[in-house]
Amino acid sequence: MILKWLIFGAIVYAIYILFFKDKGILSNSNRSSKRDDSDSEEMIECCECGTFVATKEAFIKNGKFYCSKECMNK
Ligand SMILES: [Zn+2]
Repeated sequence: MILKWLIFGAIVYAIYILFFKDKGILSNSNRSSKRDDSDSEEMIECCECGTFVATKEAFIKNGKFYCSKECMNK
C-alpha cells in the first residue's frame, strides 16, 4: 500500500513539475522579454565606427550618436 502511494505520488509530482516548469519558463521568458521591450533600451549605430550602443550610453554631438568619446572627438 505504501509503495503504491509513493509511486503514485512520484508520478503526480513529476507530471506537476514538468507541466509547471514548462509553463513557468515560457511565461517568465515572455514576461522578461516584454519587460525588456517596454524598457526600450534602443540600440543606435555609432557614426564613426558603426558599433551599436544603447542610447543611454551613447554620446551625442551635433545630433549624431557615437559609442565613445574617442569616436566623438575624431
Ligand atoms: Zn564608435
